Amino acid sequence: MAVHMFNADLHCHSSVSDGTLTPEQVAERARRNGVDLWALTDHDEVGGQARARAAAAANGMGYLTGTEISVTFINQTVHIVGLGFDADDLALVQGLAHTRGGRERRARDMAAGLERAGIGGAYEGALKFVGNPDLISRTHFARYLVEAGICNDTHEVFRRYLTEGKPGYVEHRWATLSDALSWITGAGGIAVIAHPGRYAFTPNEEFALFTEFKALGGQGVEVVTGSHTPAEYLEYAGMAQEFDLLASRGSDFHDPAESHTDLGTLPGLPGHLKPVWEALEHRIHQP
Ligand code: AMP
Ligand code: MN
Ligand code: MN
Ligand code: MN
Repeated sequence: MAVHMFNADLHCHSSVSDGTLTPEQVAERARRNGVDLWALTDHDEVGGQARARAAAAANGMGYLTGTEISVTFINQTVHIVGLGFDADDLALVQGLAHTRGGRERRARDMAAGLERAGIGGAYEGALKFVGNPDLISRTHFARYLVEAGICNDTHEVFRRYLTEGKPGYVEHRWATLSDALSWITGAGGIAVIAHPGRYAFTPNEEFALFTEFKALGGQGVEVVTGSHTPAEYLEYAGMAQEFDLLASRGSDFHDPAESHTDLGTLPGLPGHLKPVWEALEHRIHQP
């Protein structure tokens, strides 16, 4: 008999941010893939939480509320996942609404940059892929440039057009680390550093991120996530121990074709780490 690993997937996206499936479709896919405990973590948005929670219950999965907040730290964008908070908390809801507010202007500036590079109509084109008018993201531009035949896949669009120094890239100031942490912890949740292996920090800057995050009440770090290599699982397992952080696991699934990691399919957490979901037992919505 196969031993069943408790399958928690605490990082993924729906069409409420830059995923392509509805919260209900993500829930069904997670369950089909064997997920026992799920969190939908749309970017800077909790508008899908009630639907996700109901869909988790309908599919027999435990549910933790979730979001992934964009933060600017030492001039780089860092993502902080919040888990197990009260999704109706006013400071959280208002803080996220404020941070989302900058996206419209940024999108217009991105389109202007692309226009100068000879790509017209990108704002209108991206909008066709947007599920939530409040949340236009680089991913939506990427999907449009693929549709328009300018690139073969979204990764190529990011590489050629949407990353620093490229025509569609626009500097943007997101929330502060301190604001993001206070929104999450003030709403009773736990904050988790998302995919730390993705940032281009120097070792000193990364140490500063972890140190400041801890000092502000941050408690967790993603160790096993879609964009980490097996070597990074080990590296950030070490960081979790060094900083006495809870460990999280999440696919960062966005779309069946674009995402190379499907819901619920990653390896388990290294056995010596403390899973973040054990500290959130009291916040889990049981089916
Ligand atoms: P934004 O919040 O508008 O800056 O968009 C960030 C999103 O773009 C991330 O959450 C990813 O979904 C996606 N993304 C970032 N970098 C890449 C990349 N190199 N390839 C594909 N998608 C990416
Ligand atoms: Mn995304
Ligand atoms: Mn992210
Ligand atoms: Mn994500």
